[in-house]
Amino acid sequence: MIITLDGPAGSGKSTAARRLADELGFRFLNTGAMYRAVGLLCEQSGTDLTDADACGRTAASAQLVQTGDRLSVNGEDWTALVRSPAAATAASAVAVHPPVRTALVALQRTVGAAGDTVTEGRDQGTIVFPDAALKVFLTADAEARAERRWRELRETDANVPLADVLAEVRDRDARDERRSAAPLIPAADAVRYDTTGKPLETVVADLVALARE
Ligand code: C5P
Repeated sequence: MIITLDGPAGSGKSTAARRLADELGFRFLNTGAMYRAVGLLCEQSGTDLTDADACGRTAASAQLVQTGDRLSVNGEDWTALVRSPAAATAASAVAVHPPVRTALVALQRTVGAAGDTVTEGRDQGTIVFPDAALKVFLTADAEARAERRWRELRETDANVPLADVLAEVRDRDARDERRSAAPLIPAADAVRYDTTGKPLETVVADLVALARE
């Protein structure tokens, strides 16, 4: 059984999906972390982030392994590295390229085929798992999403201004929504769920109830 959670940056997808997977005993797939890893790999190797084929080759040759919450990239633990705002920006730059998406979609489908999975991203219900048993599209006000990101970032960088995070979230959403390859849109059969102002426990309980319907 596959459950997809899609939505914009900071809508609370990752935390909610991880908790939902724990509650159901499913595996958890964080596809944003894969795009972040490819973005960073391209930057590290000096690959032009606008070169679709070169970024696609980087994605296809990367060894990305997700085990629970941890992400290993070519044998190294990149779990913390991919959480930075720089990784998010690089991710949304390389995510516009069809060859990058083709490589990562194939990897995501392999994980999904291996067993019950809660997967989160932008295109999980629309493109990667169109036959998923449950599709949820999470939303939240831009301000609420920026504040959520800001609180997470402050755990590692106390000085980042909220206004900068809001600008970054808005830029990334605009790019994710307007791109021609897999734009961020809800699947026609997705349940829409607004997390603005809702405590995590409420969101998780509501998602568990939807999954058990
Ligand atoms: O969800 P997260 O913030 O980690 O995603 C980082 C970026 O990766 C997004 O802004 C988006 O451009 C890209 N992404 C994507 N498709 C996915 C997951 C993430 O295009 N399934």
